[in-house]
Amino acid sequence: MDTYHFQPTKEFAGKLDQCDALAIYRKEFYLTPGTIYMDGNSLGLLSKRAEKSLLNSLEDWKRYGIEGWTEGDNPWFYFSERLGELSAPLVGASGDEVIMSGSTTGNLHQLVATFFEPKEGRNKILADELTFPSDIYALQSQLLLHGLDPETHLVQVKSRDGKLLMEDDIIAAMSEEVALVVLPTVLYRSGQILDMKRLTKEAHTRGIIIGFDGCHSVGAVPHQFDEWEVDFAFWCNYKHLNGGPGSVAGLYVNRKHFDKRPGLTGWFGSKKDEQFDMKHSFSKADSAGAFQIGTPHILSMAPLVGSLEMFAEVGIEQIRTKSLLLTQYFMDLIDSELMEYGFSFGNPRDDFRRGAHIILEHPEAARICKALKNEGVIPDYREPDMIRLAPVSLYTSYQEVWETVQALKKIMQGKLYESYENIRGIIA
Ligand SMILES: *Cc1c(COP(=O)(O)O)cnc(C)c1O
Repeated sequence: MDTYHFQPTKEFAGKLDQCDALAIYRKEFYLTPGTIYMDGNSLGLLSKRAEKSLLNSLEDWKRYGIEGWTEGDNPWFYFSERLGELSAPLVGASGDEVIMSGSTTGNLHQLVATFFEPKEGRNKILADELTFPSDIYALQSQLLLHGLDPETHLVQVKSRDGKLLMEDDIIAAMSEEVALVVLPTVLYRSGQILDMKRLTKEAHTRGIIIGFDGCHSVGAVPHQFDEWEVDFAFWCNYKHLNGGPGSVAGLYVNRKHFDKRPGLTGWFGSKKDEQFDMKHSFSKADSAGAFQIGTPHILSMAPLVGSLEMFAEVGIEQIRTKSLLLTQYFMDLIDSELMEYGFSFGNPRDDFRRGAHIILEHPEAARICKALKNEGVIPDYREPDMIRLAPVSLYTSYQEVWETVQALKKIMQGKLYESYENIRGIIA
């Protein structure tokens, strides 16, 4: 398709699918027949390649036992580094600046333990009031470990409308008292992309270290962490990267910080050739690998080999191009079919501001989500009134977007949501 001229018809969805260069990847995923999966930004689906690479690691265990650390196609001793290299193009880094290790929240703890060096008069951390709760809990506890009160030392930039952040407000809060800034790349609810380049530049002008939580962007949106001179970043691999539930997380440290001693040290942060010297003096790796702590969770990392190969094949630019068209199409359909039912958009509409999902706000959101599941569509719900819908470039078709909007229309027309209680489940 050369140009996109929106039409609300099913035929138009079919035309978009016919012109979709990534449509061939759909058959590589395990999709449940009769179900439309719109939750790939909470837990990405399993691909056959990811399954195969997991089975390969299991096979290595079967076959080699302890020798699996150095034998097989993906020796476990170098696994985290290899996956770091495979991930680096997704964040605009060189291979040795990225490592797979631990969990998102654990990596945030590691990075704040490393980079937050409070001094008299400069001892605050700047975050925002819309970020993911786990990040805030981690920042609060890191302040407490320094004997600082989170009430006064964690500054959370306010949102003017409860959905979006303004870079101007964030920059205005970068006072002389701030030592560290931690922000999301893409907000988990509104899907707003922050201007990381500008924020990094402004932080550095003021002598402040800055890091980003990339959970909602890595694998969906391109980044240029090196070019922007971002100090550090961390993200999960189970959302857009389809690494499986609890998949080992990602961590980026700009090479200008390779001389820094990790705040939390463990033997897997050693230089590889010296780790087994078993000395009591830590010989730090000269790479992001230094920020690992203990033995890597091999089986929670193995699916990423197959998954990241697909990202390498397709390239993040192509993934982003399709993602933008998927969400644009979604919004156009909603504008055309659903606005009379009291929905409003909670996501920014501009391409440069919009991440990879859309948010529909509605007072009955919790039970509309339940009715959607009953219609075979898997959304997710976010308090207090948000339906989050994430079409995924590698496996969502335009026809599924069309069908999702038809399901919503049926639910609203027939008030089918009234058969459910308007409260969320234990997991949303
Ligand atoms: C999903 C998500 C997390 C989750 O952290 P875990 O340690 O993997 O549980 C953290 N931050 C953001 C922004 C997220 O979206």
